[in-house]
Amino acid sequence: MAQVSTVTGMIEADQLGTTLIHEHLCNRDEAVHNQWPRAGAVKEDLPYEVAPEEVFEIAVREAEAAVALGIKTIGEPTAMFLGRDVEFMRGVSEETGLQVIPCTGIYTYDFLPQFFVNRDSDQIADLFVQDIEEGIQGTEIKAAFIKCAADELGVNENIEKVHRAAARASVRTGVPIMAHSRPASNTGPRQIEIFLEEGVDPSKVQIAHTGDTDDLDYIEGLLEKGVWIGLDRYGLEIFLPYEKRQQTAKALLERGYADRIFLSADSVATTDWFPANVIEQLLAAGAAKDWTIRLVPEKVLPELREWGMTEEQERTMMIENPVRWLTT
Ligand SMILES: [Zn+2]
Repeated sequence: MAQVSTVTGMIEADQLGTTLIHEHLCNRDEAVHNQWPRAGAVKEDLPYEVAPEEVFEIAVREAEAAVALGIKTIGEPTAMFLGRDVEFMRGVSEETGLQVIPCTGIYTYDFLPQFFVNRDSDQIADLFVQDIEEGIQGTEIKAAFIKCAADELGVNENIEKVHRAAARASVRTGVPIMAHSRPASNTGPRQIEIFLEEGVDPSKVQIAHTGDTDDLDYIEGLLEKGVWIGLDRYGLEIFLPYEKRQQTAKALLERGYADRIFLSADSVATTDWFPANVIEQLLAAGAAKDWTIRLVPEKVLPELREWGMTEEQERTMMIENPVRWLTT
């Protein structure tokens, strides 16, 4: 049996169990945090500013809640610029027993620091490979997947460079890629095109946030390429309302795509992206609802079961797909 890297060490792939592939234990700008360590973070579903000490406690609380709902593992796609901190993740994992799968990669929609502006894709790939083969941030914790992103600005020059770096690191190591996408900007097809040009097997590619659209033609267009898709932002009403996300999931299950789908919420236990008053306004405007690590096990899955999702479909999406994406 193949093994998967977690923040507490390598485990047998069949030990992953029920897995949410896309949840963040902490989300903050690492540069701001480094320069102003006490600058405020906010809890995702409550608009109040939390003290820096609380950030860890809240992550533990959220992880405990997930474990209590039967979640055994999360994919933690917090890459560079999202505040990746594998010691933080390890602390949460040790405290709660939740298995946490870390990544390497760069989360940007355009901006790159001079360090990367002046280096090519192969040199960036070298750093990703270091995380995968040697360990992250001076630890022995190895990255299990590679993260990159394209958003409203499309696949511009910098984004293409990062995608090619991710692809080359994947080809060199066999580790899969999770690509943040924006269906409203039609980024998925071009992202896939780059990966295929670089020789990545499409079965190693997960196009995250595909569930932000209910355009089945767009989604099936991606699926035809042989990639995985993330219906992974349940609760983020601002991109697509919950009911439409569920309708999309049901339509895709009916069309036989259980073996290509991940269900998750892309929750963040805390975030520093917005000040508390803006979070309050966003929540009041309905931008997010029930947007926590609990949403999929607590509401999405029970509703889908009620609707007619079979045990086999659930097992495929929640247990077997993570193993296949991460190990084959
Ligand atoms: Zn995310």
